[in-house]
Parts: sequence; C-alpha cells; structure tokens
Amino acid sequence: MKWRPIITGGLICAAGAGVVLWVIHARLVGHWIQVHTGTVNEPGPYYGFWSGFGSDLTEFGIIGAIATGVYQLVKKYNCHQPGCWRVGNHPAAGGQFSLCYRHHPDYQGKKPTQELIQRLHREHLERQALTLGRLHEAHERLMARPAAGDGGSGPGAPATPAASNGTTQAGAGAPT
Ligand SMILES: [Zn+2]
Repeated sequence: MKWRPIITGGLICAAGAGVVLWVIHARLVGHWIQVHTGTVNEPGPYYGFWSGFGSDLTEFGIIGAIATGVYQLVKKYNCHQPGCWRVGNHPAAGGQFSLCYRHHPDYQGKKPTQELIQRLHREHLERQALTLGRLHEAHERLMARPAAGDGGSGPGAPATPAASNGTTQAGAGAPT
C-alpha cells in the first residue's frame, strides 16, 4: 500500500545526494567532463574520438530518427496479423485492426469480389439505418417526456395563434 511514497522519497533523496556530491567535487567532476569531451587537453586521448567517430554521432541520431519514423509507418500500415507483411488497409472490429484482404475475416482469404463488395455495402447501410432509427426513437422518447410533464403549455402554445387567425385545420397542420 505505502510503497509508492517510500520509493519516491528514496529516489528524491538519492538525486539530492548526487547533486550534493557533484557540488562538493565540482572541480573534479568538471575536469573529468572537460577531458572526456575534449574541451581541455585538445590533442589528448579523446582528440581522435571527437574528430573521427565522435563527429558522426549527430548523423547516427538523424539516421535513428528516420529509422524510427519508417518503423512507425510500417507498424501503422502493416497488416496486424502476426508475421504478415502485406499492407493492411481494411479496418476490422470498428477500426481496431488494419488487415490485408487475406486476413480480414469478411473476405475469407480471397480478394473481395464484386458480389461481396455489394453485399457488405448493403449490410452496412442496413445496419446504419437500424442504428439511426434506434437513435431517432430514443430522441423522440426523450423529447416527449418533458412535453408531457409540462401539461398543456407545450402542445397548446402553437395551436393558439392558428385558432386566432381563423385558418383551417389543413393550414395549421402544414407548418408542423
Ligand atoms: Zn495479412
């Protein structure tokens, strides 16, 4: 239960001790850094490193960044089936997976045929209509509840001007 504050406190103490040690031995640490980065004693043991291999370190960083970007892109567009190297541009499970046509459960390992595309499209439209219908129903029910609670004021209000104008029933019904 109480492990987290203990660990956090310990880490803070360790960091504090490190800073204190650094400050006490500042001259020593500073000198160590200066020698190892080649700031002082230029033709010293690290000259060859910093003018040779060390000068390429930034390039390695750039190459690493590019490699990471390519890796992320591959991860993004690669089929999610383990061991598959095809481009997965068919979403499954509501976009949770990107699968190639071979591994998408709807296509059964074959390239989608004209007939399959038509059928899936029709099914999708039917599902959408059903969902929209249900949403509409729920909305209607929500809207009807406060109107019924209000009593006569809700539906009664639009009827009054129509009656005072003396228009017919058909005329009053048209705008609503
Ligand atoms: Zn695949």
